[in-house]
Amino acid sequence: MFSKIGVVVLLMPFLTSCGVKNAASNPKTLDIVKQYLLDYKNVTGKAFPEEALNNGTIDLVDTLPAAIAGQCSTWSNGSWAIILNNMYWEYAREEQRITLLYHELGHCLQGMDHRGKYDGKNFTSLMHPYTLPIGMFTSAQKAYVNELHTKIWSL
Ligand SMILES: [Zn+2]
Repeated sequence: MFSKIGVVVLLMPFLTSCGVKNAASNPKTLDIVKQYLLDYKNVTGKAFPEEALNNGTIDLVDTLPAAIAGQCSTWSNGSWAIILNNMYWEYAREEQRITLLYHELGHCLQGMDHRGKYDGKNFTSLMHPYTLPIGMFTSAQKAYVNELHTKIWSL
């Protein structure tokens, strides 16, 4: 899911040629981005610095391998890009879209690495490298959102 290699060279011309585009401009993902920002505020008590959104893009693409649902790339100047597997997205349930995009936003907006483990019932973080099975997120949504922004799993 997480890689800073390979796509970097490929995406650079794309980023620089789309100056007006940013993460808030994709209507298919905008509601989830807004919810991510709201969750951040509810958990931390602070508003997320929304200007960070202007440094990045979120796009649905047909070029990712079938086994890769999404990918975050970051650059040293602070810009970032999330690409989501279009086929996965089209067939995914809403909760799968949320967990995928929250995961990639965790990488790209907050610099999070992979973490979490399987505790016998749940992956203990949305930053677990594998996408959550259907139903896992909705069964413990509050714990996942809290863990995402505090690193404390408290189910
Ligand atoms: Zn990842």
